[in-house]
Amino acid sequence: MHDLSEDIRLPDGCPNCGSHRARVSQVKNPDDKVFCASCNTVIGLYGEVKERLIKAQPSETEQLLEKAANKKPS
Ligand SMILES: [Zn+2]
Repeated sequence: MHDLSEDIRLPDGCPNCGSHRARVSQVKNPDDKVFCASCNTVIGLYGEVKERLIKAQPSETEQLLEKAANKKPS
């Protein structure tokens, strides 16, 4: 049985092979492990990697957060 997973782009490369592609479970729980797509090294937990993504790409992430915020009834 295969877990459903999704590719994400790392802001910094894999510490082992330098690849910027990683995989995380589609559920994307903050405590799900993120694996390097090339060598399967554990990069870290999704919550930590997401923090680094937000810092690396603030404008893009802000847009996504704005869209999410606009969906909330006020
Ligand atoms: Zn790697």
